This record gives sequence, C-alpha cells and structure tokens, in this order.
Amino acid sequence: MFEWFGKVNFVPYTKVSDFARHLKDGYLMGSRCKRCGEQSFPPRADCGACLSGEFEFFEVNGKSKLLTFTKIVAAPTGFEEVAPSTVGVADLEDGGRILAWIGDTIPEEEIEIGMELQVVPRIFEELEEIKVYYSLEKPGTTWSKASAPSTAE
Ligand SMILES: [Zn+2]
Repeated sequence: MFEWFGKVNFVPYTKVSDFARHLKDGYLMGSRCKRCGEQSFPPRADCGACLSGEFEFFEVNGKSKLLTFTKIVAAPTGFEEVAPSTVGVADLEDGGRILAWIGDTIPEEEIEIGMELQVVPRIFEELEEIKVYYSLEKPGTTWSKASAPSTAE
C-alpha cells in the first residue's frame, strides 16, 4: 500500500498507512491516544498532549460547522486550475478543525458562517499515488464507502 503515497513523504509509513486505506475506503478517521485518550482530527501518529506514539483510529462522522471561509481568486502555484474557488475552516462535532474546499452542493451565495456542513473525503488516484482532499458539503451529503472500515494490521 505504500505506493498510494507516491513521492509524498509520510513518516513513519507504518503509522499512517492504515489512514490511507481508511480514506480510500471512504472513511473519515481521527486518532485517539491509547495512553491519555486525546482525540485528534486529522489523525496524528504521536499524541500532542502526552507525546505517546500509541494510538488507535476512530471514525469521525464529519458533521461540522463553518467557522470562516474565503474565496481564492489568485491561486498559489500548483492550484491555478482550481481558482477561483472557496475554502472554509470548519469545526467538527467530534472535535478537531479542518481546512477544506467548499463543495458543489453549496452555492456560493448560501455560504454562511455557522452553517452546518458535512466533511466528505474526496480521492483522486493517479497511477501509483493516492491524493486525498476534503470538501465541505450540505448536511446529509453522502459519499461512497466500502462496506466496513479496513481493520487488517
Ligand atoms: Zn496522549
């Protein structure tokens, strides 16, 4: 599965490879520290509270509220093709905060701070690489998932 990462350098591979598989299966996953219970989204291989490297994944429902947003007209290098576009920062019901594109289900004129959103994982696969981004969509937006989260170690 390491090939999903392509040239992107995730360290250490063994700790995050399951995360790639969960995303590929359509699951939003956060991490929970096995020592102190600290939860993090996006997941962290090492606990930000107690520095423990022992963690487990848990599924995040992706329900969130829009904290702020901005329209990007002049895109940074590498993102020219997606400009203009709108990105938002949302606070997740399960904890954590995400920066993501505002998706197609939400017309620009309906974007409002405090509105309820659904975080949806979007995956592009390019040859031997997996690329993931998230979009913020209307509550109730569904996306395809595998039948169950992969649990194989
Ligand atoms: Zn911890």
